[in-house]
Amino acid sequence: MHIPTLIERKRDGAELSASEISALIDGFTRGEIPDYQMSALAMAIFFRGMTPNETQNLTAAMMQSGRLLQYPADSPPKVDKHSTGGIGDKVSLVLAPLLACDEVWVPMISGRGLGITGGTLDKLESIPGFNVNLDERRALQQLEKIGVCMIGQTADICPADKKLYALRDVTGTVPSQPLIVASIMSKKLAENLDQLVLDVKFGSGAFMKTREEAAQLAESMTNVGNGMGVKVSHLVSPMDEPLGHAVGNALEVAEAVTTLQGGGPNDLIDLTLDLAAKVSMAPRDKLARWLCDGNAWRKFIALVEAQDGDAGVLEKITSVHAAPIIWPLPAPRAGVIKRMDAGTIGRAALFLGAGRARAGDEVDFAVGFSRIKNVGERVEPNEPLLFVHARKEETLASVLPLLEQACEVAE
Ligand code: URA
Repeated sequence: MHIPTLIERKRDGAELSASEISALIDGFTRGEIPDYQMSALAMAIFFRGMTPNETQNLTAAMMQSGRLLQYPADSPPKVDKHSTGGIGDKVSLVLAPLLACDEVWVPMISGRGLGITGGTLDKLESIPGFNVNLDERRALQQLEKIGVCMIGQTADICPADKKLYALRDVTGTVPSQPLIVASIMSKKLAENLDQLVLDVKFGSGAFMKTREEAAQLAESMTNVGNGMGVKVSHLVSPMDEPLGHAVGNALEVAEAVTTLQGGGPNDLIDLTLDLAAKVSMAPRDKLARWLCDGNAWRKFIALVEAQDGDAGVLEKITSVHAAPIIWPLPAPRAGVIKRMDAGTIGRAALFLGAGRARAGDEVDFAVGFSRIKNVGERVEPNEPLLFVHARKEETLASVLPLLEQACEVAE
């Protein structure tokens, strides 16, 4: 195929066929199509968009650029969840073991944090010894034994997405809906699932700023998945304030542990149960019972142990990773909390070192925020709105003005 002609056709708004898209993705993955041609194509897609058929064909081609997870013929249904990411979103840590209390397998492949959004792999790696780099054989053995694994993407899953995302990142083409849909769905569908639930977030702490944008993205991802034979459902959920009361890797693991032990904040419990109920064969009340009766907690311990983690420290993870400075942010006046802005709190967490500005940066497991109050709560003057966990006085000083912007108390 003549690549410049395909780029020109997309530039002029034509629809590319399945075989043209597949040739483009194959050639790019093999290194036969250079970055400059793929960048031009990404920009043409950015401006012209893609039809639903093109988006599905792009997703399929990217998924087929690598391996799909393979399971024995008589294995239970495979289910998973994907979130577009938010601040304090530790749902996966609770949901994966909870789902595995039922007769399903949860082969969860997650990512690392980037920008203001934290990543499940970073949170898991705050547990000493936890190994997210299982090969496929070991992941399968674990699924057979306990029904759940939580791992990172291997080099042979969706190599096209890895290459294309790196290009999009430096060519201003990340925020293109068809490219986002194909990127996310190709990786999730490479898990070879029966059912997938999507949590598409909107608000200041999310990728999508409005409910309408999130609903559109959710619908497109759902259609692509269903078109490829996977039963996909979704929720569109707000992300204007952090989820739960903790932001930061070890702090979020601690909150997930409390939730798996039957405690935890209501927003985290409700969202986890709403998502789980969409892919579980068990009804919501049974799932809620498993959170309270120790089943989900025991499954999480089994998961941590199976992946070489030290389950003995789970209940004291914030002592294992203790920030030297814990600083209460006082309420400026008596009143009701009107705003606890997730995006600004996410940026502050990034400055503290809880997240990474660019791929490959180290994260600090100890830092972040705890005991974050909710919008609508009443506070007295000087009552802490949240506690900052910082490594250094300078980083604490740098985030305080941001936090003052993030939190608004109305009389
Ligand atoms: N997450 C992804 O994996 N890909 C995107 O394009 C955007 C978010």
